[in-house]
Amino acid sequence: MRKAQSNSPAPGPRKPNLDKPNLAELDLGEIELSETDLIRQIRRRAGKQSALDLRLGIGDDCALLRLRPGEELALTTDLSIAGRHFELDLHPPESIGHRALARGLSDLAAMGARPVAAFLSLGIPRNLTGHWLTRFLDGFLSLAARYETPLAGGDLAESPLPVADIVLTGAVPHGKALLRSGARAGDLIYVTGMLGGSSAGLAQLKQLAQPKKPASLRNLLSAKRRLGTQPQPPRIPAELQEALAPHLYPEPRIAQGLFLLRHSKATAAIDLSDGLSTDLAHLCAESGVAAEIDAALLPIHAAATPPAATLEQALHGGEDYELLFTAPPSARVPRRIAGVPVAQIGRISRARAGRPPVTLLTASGSQPLAPRGWQHFSRLR
Ligand SMILES: [Mg+2]
Repeated sequence: MRKAQSNSPAPGPRKPNLDKPNLAELDLGEIELSETDLIRQIRRRAGKQSALDLRLGIGDDCALLRLRPGEELALTTDLSIAGRHFELDLHPPESIGHRALARGLSDLAAMGARPVAAFLSLGIPRNLTGHWLTRFLDGFLSLAARYETPLAGGDLAESPLPVADIVLTGAVPHGKALLRSGARAGDLIYVTGMLGGSSAGLAQLKQLAQPKKPASLRNLLSAKRRLGTQPQPPRIPAELQEALAPHLYPEPRIAQGLFLLRHSKATAAIDLSDGLSTDLAHLCAESGVAAEIDAALLPIHAAATPPAATLEQALHGGEDYELLFTAPPSARVPRRIAGVPVAQIGRISRARAGRPPVTLLTASGSQPLAPRGWQHFSRLR
């Protein structure tokens, strides 16, 4: 069995190029590596990351993490499953790696936590152990490097269904973590960044993946010979890369979460992973309050390439990974935090029996806003 030569660039402070295959890796084809070779490859690449709080990373039975005095550990886990959270023939491997990590980092951001280390358990079929895995790691480690989150361990197994399970550890000053449960009647509701961009991007990505002309048997056979059994996500044209970035490469709001915690700006926070309607309902339930949001105030994502996101996508689309937080009117929340715009979108009120927890104010009046975001046991969105 031949050993893979990793020619991929060291993870740097830049985002991976959207859908740009690492040409140096393409000649690896479908080389099948042993588990030891794979772990060695991952360890070599993971070792290049900065490791401020990591005393011992990959290689021993456990990783050893160092917390600073007065800190407590924040820990979150997220499971990404092919066919549920990503599609091999839709998402470039770099995006799948990036998104798996971004989901966990976004949870840390919502608590105001500083990332400490990531752990990745990966189950993939044998045909993905070549350049698909290298490109997955390109996306994963590039994001990890930008947020100084070393990959400190994990597991690797052959699996007929690709799965990536991520564990993120972070640190928060003792007793200071931003919780979902702190919102009070009279607080204002804020959101970072833009909403609906991920959902709009996914719709565009699905259009790109549709075959342009009817596939003849001969075309299909020659494509199969050319590509083997490697999944082929659509090539993303340069003019669409910006519009698809919110979906393919969402940016976790770590700096914004740290700012809110350090300056005691927020009474409660949650990250928008499942969609505004669903996540705001979670926050209301945990805080025992109700909320009213104003449709006219929602920062709906205007993609560089039309169509822009719709109100529906902004309310229910999910996977925007922005922060939703509450603060009293006296808090003087800045309009931008670390370069990202912050918008006030509504107000927290007292929960009343028989009244919907979340209402939406539009030009035609006030209506209940049912949570219609991501349902974890429903079909793929
Ligand atoms: Mg979350």
